[in-house]
Amino acid sequence: MDNHRTGEATLDAVAEPSAVNSIRIEVDRDLCIGSGDCVDAEPEVFALDDEGKAFVLDTDAATPDEVVDAARNCPVTAIFVIGEDGYIYP
Ligand code: SF4
Repeated sequence: MDNHRTGEATLDAVAEPSAVNSIRIEVDRDLCIGSGDCVDAEPEVFALDDEGKAFVLDTDAATPDEVVDAARNCPVTAIFVIGEDGYIYP
């Protein structure tokens, strides 16, 4: 009956880099304030869920530079862009 799971990662991060950009994007849901800036900047990459928190729709729907630009515009630095050699941003 106790199916409540705690401590499980719920980020949209996947272990493998994306097929095209070879990056991963992580959104820290605890930091995200739902401003929607990332969605406005890259609506094919980011969306807001029903809790008003951003999640990643498609890591490869924009160029890495565009993803980084969107991450830079996040007012609370909740978006992390990771490349094969480590963090690209921040
Ligand atoms: S820009 Fe940052 S705070 Fe705003 S919705 Fe996106 S991740 Fe959340």
